[in-house]
Amino acid sequence: MNPYDQVLDATISHLEKLKASGIKHVKVSQEILSSLTMPSSRAVETRASASPAATSTASGRSTIPVTPKPVAVAPSLPQSKVSLMESMAEEIKQVRGEGEIPGEKGLALEQVKQRAMVCVKCPHLASSRRNVVFGVGNIDSPLMFVGEAPGMEEDQEGEPFVGVAGQLLTKIIKAMGFGREQIYIANVLKCRPNTPGQTAGNRKPSEEEMKKCLPYLLAQIEIIQPKIIVALGGTAVEGLFGKTDGISKIRGHLRYLRNIPVMPTFHPSYLLRQQMLTEKRKVWEDMMKVMEHLQIPITEKQQGFFLKA
Ligand code: SF4
Repeated sequence: MNPYDQVLDATISHLEKLKASGIKHVKVSQEILSSLTMPSSRAVETRASASPAATSTASGRSTIPVTPKPVAVAPSLPQSKVSLMESMAEEIKQVRGEGEIPGEKGLALEQVKQRAMVCVKCPHLASSRRNVVFGVGNIDSPLMFVGEAPGMEEDQEGEPFVGVAGQLLTKIIKAMGFGREQIYIANVLKCRPNTPGQTAGNRKPSEEEMKKCLPYLLAQIEIIQPKIIVALGGTAVEGLFGKTDGISKIRGHLRYLRNIPVMPTFHPSYLLRQQMLTEKRKVWEDMMKVMEHLQIPITEKQQGFFLKA
């Protein structure tokens, strides 16, 4: 296959994926649009006029329907045409403001996120939130952490686990041998539970709020397909599985959500309140079980964390 055909195939294939994932339009520059909508010979020479069907935007780009139609050109093209198609692929890469073309998982997750960002299923939370805290991290991660709901800092930042408890979670993740950016973190609830009349503090999400929001998290899990999930705290476990025994009783015992193992453990904020080594060790033992499940070697040093000297 010649270079042009390769680029063309890759472009068509990508457009088909975008279309299949529900994306109806992509932005392309006026220059590329003009070239694509005129006969090939002229296209190579002139890249000036725009398609009358194109919709200009404030940024000077145009919107065209995502219809993976092969461009009507001769099979063998000059190098300038190849550059043109490569340039178009680059344009598509930038459509979503990301460095590279998102894969199917990224696009699917983005669609769920877009729905959550405008969700008003809990009007009292939609009106009080600063941000919808969807989730953050590596969507290809084998490991996912799930908490209960954003707190004040998370609501402000738009990212889960950024407060003091989040810093402790980051330390736990590092102790396991991961970087925070390598794993995926989300909450059962995407909006901060409101606290009318309070200037500080957070509240536990209600059962009804968690039920309403759970479909977003289930969609995230369905798309990411982690090998294991860590549920942080009793409320997160309750959000995922419904009413259950207390976290002290169920922690450390795997349960399954749609065939994905879930390890319940204490919430980091519990460890901040309970500074005892024994409680830290319990969480660490849960994390070592997670590491075993992921077949991550556990060093002697790691095995000795939070044991009495
Ligand atoms: S908490 Fe969830 S269900 Fe409720 S408004 Fe926010 S995103 Fe929607």
